[in-house]
Amino acid sequence: MAIILEKRDFLLFIEPAGKCHTPVIDKYTKRLTGAFRSAKVGLSNYSNIAREYDTEAFFDENGGGWKGSHVCICGAMSSNKDYAMLTRDVLSLHIDHQQIVLTNSLCIHYVACHRDDVPTEMLEQIMLLSADDAEPTQTELGLG
Ligand SMILES: [Zn+2]
Repeated sequence: MAIILEKRDFLLFIEPAGKCHTPVIDKYTKRLTGAFRSAKVGLSNYSNIAREYDTEAFFDENGGGWKGSHVCICGAMSSNKDYAMLTRDVLSLHIDHQQIVLTNSLCIHYVACHRDDVPTEMLEQIMLLSADDAEPTQTELGLG
């Protein structure tokens, strides 16, 4: 099965231009925190959309990450892994009949601290994530 990734399968791969604000902890931040805590770690080779997918390798935490980390304009640094969160959005990427959306480790930081840089449609996408709301820690906010 070849997987075609659509723009909507990616969430919060953004590069904020503004400064880091006092974290906004609202329904968006809490839903995203809950979803991120149960995200599957370790996707790094999905960009090779022509290959046949072995879903175990796809979610292998010990598999290779990307070669570098991303650094936010404020200095917060991402991990070199991507993360797959479950979503109710039926149009998102299907793997074993689950709908997932891919994100990065700075997603909570972006939504909480750089809200002005997060497009409205991404906030709507967050509310489709299948997760209970959770209060982010300072580390999850990228401030710890
Ligand atoms: Zn930042």
